[in-house]
Amino acid sequence: MEKVIIEREKYTPVRLECDVLVAGGGTAGTIAALASARNGAKTVVIERFGHLGGSMINGAGPLHSFFNLYKAFPGAEKKQVVKGIPQEIIDRLVEAGGSFGHVEQEKGYSYDSMATLIDREIYKGIIFDMMREAGVKLLLHTMIVDTVKEGSEAKGVIIETNREGKRFWQK
Ligand SMILES: Cc1cc2nc3c(=O)[nH]c(=O)nc-3n(C[C@H](O)[C@H](O)[C@H](O)COP(=O)(O)OP(=O)(O)OC[C@H]3O[C@@H](n4cnc5c(N)ncnc54)[C@H](O)[C@@H]3O)c2cc1C
Repeated sequence: MEKVIIEREKYTPVRLECDVLVAGGGTAGTIAALASARNGAKTVVIERFGHLGGSMINGAGPLHSFFNLYKAFPGAEKKQVVKGIPQEIIDRLVEAGGSFGHVEQEKGYSYDSMATLIDREIYKGIIFDMMREAGVKLLLHTMIVDTVKEGSEAKGVIIETNREGKRFWQK
């Protein structure tokens, strides 16, 4: 049988109350948080890293899929299929010199017809600005380690930070 330990019972202080808690500040989380806060909800984003943007910042190439695959289907009408807050971010990046905007793919367009290159360091600053303007509270370097539920309803999350990390050392 696998060896286990039983952790001691802990009294965990309740740090935050909010209307909308966004678990993870990747592209989905940041845009959801902006939409939520702009509509008046007290919004918190909890992110394990020290920046927002998630996988898009940590490994992706150009951003895909703002447009349909019109080049792969001759005769198809070119259409922008993603607008709203994602487009607003691109507009802010262009304004700040952090993107050329959407550019046509010259090859590989069965995968994507238009690609959107961004400067990731400029993105990091702009998305912080947008969060501040919308009034989103950010908890960075903060790991979600568990959820708290009442029945089937999610009530909150348990977090751990660099300062208050839970550790177990075995000799
Ligand atoms: C290697 C790679 C290359 C890619 N290339 C491209 C590309 O070229 N073009 C393109 O358009 N798309 C690309 N993608 C896809 C694109 O990056 C993802 O579709 C998109 O980033 C998903 O966004 P998301 O917000 O759903 O998730 P994620 O970006 O994964 O965001 C999740 C966030 O949650 C945080 N998180 C996770 N667990 C916890 C926790 N327990 N506590 C606190 N925070 C937590 C993470 O740190 C992260 O910030 C690529 C993805 C990868 C992995």
